[in-house]
Amino acid sequence: MLQGIASLGLEPLYMPGTEKIVLGAVGDERSIESLHLENYGCVERVIPVLSPYKLASRELHPAETLISISKQHIGAPYFTVIAGPCSVENEEMVQQVGNILQEEKVSFMRGGAFKPRTSPYSFQGLGESGLQLMAKVRERFGTLIVTEVMDSEQVETVATYADVLQIGSRNMQNFTLLKKVGKTNKPILLKRGMAASIQEFLMSAEYILAEGNNNVILCERGIKTFETSYRNTLDLTAIPVLKEKTHLPVIVDPSHAAGNRSYVIALAKAAMACGADGIIVEIHPHPEEALTDGKQSLSFPEFRNLMQQFRRLAAIEGRILP
Ligand code: PEP
Ligand code: MN
Repeated sequence: MLQGIASLGLEPLYMPGTEKIVLGAVGDERSIESLHLENYGCVERVIPVLSPYKLASRELHPAETLISISKQHIGAPYFTVIAGPCSVENEEMVQQVGNILQEEKVSFMRGGAFKPRTSPYSFQGLGESGLQLMAKVRERFGTLIVTEVMDSEQVETVATYADVLQIGSRNMQNFTLLKKVGKTNKPILLKRGMAASIQEFLMSAEYILAEGNNNVILCERGIKTFETSYRNTLDLTAIPVLKEKTHLPVIVDPSHAAGNRSYVIALAKAAMACGADGIIVEIHPHPEEALTDGKQSLSFPEFRNLMQQFRRLAAIEGRILP
């Protein structure tokens, strides 16, 4: 076994104890997988000393990543607000959203054109024409586009319109898609799977980074728990944990966590207080008429209220709001 370790160019260590023998392999442990040490009967455990997500980890990259897109920044000390409808429904509504974002100095508009819906009979989004409507808003107001890509075959089309490609919760472990977006030059907003551990989340980020795309934004959007009083449980603990483990920016989606607009502002403020680098929040000119996620979408007055509260809190937290 020691010979096998040495043959990979790693330094083998032999540490006999009274009951067990510990073997060490010093070097890049990615190569050690090829030995399949865990298959040997005499091997109890194979433990990596450093984290398995080399590129996402702070161990080898202690400085925080700051992502810059057309003079806008995502990452500390900035606090980035991404706001917009769950789905792009028609031109008028996205233009109205563009207008309020400009008034509130928010530079990123979210909006789904390809929607992952639980039911195949629900509204699936406008597809490419939805992306064209967002591009018109960008032309008029300069708002950058954050939009979901659901399938590796859509990546090229969506990337021609998007400034940031969103990978939805349901696709966090769609490794073909992760590799594909890793080959683009667009920043990727990666949402945490609703049943994914932090380690799995970071391994998914690693897939994108390993393809050469260094601009990954992590998004905590609530996980499934036993609680049924709200849509998901916002895992606020994940924020300081992720900030400790990775150099990548971490943002929060209070809308899909809450599932109800009554709780969104509280969760958004908690995200800032916990050290998140921004939020992605759903807003709608007439939430009661929204085709998707209206219940959790903030009305425009509620969104203004949130921005006002953020400005006060940012002064305390030392965050820069645009
Ligand atoms: C969304 O952002 O509209 C969405 C579908 O989010 P998630 O993937 O987190 O469910
Ligand atoms: Mn939604």
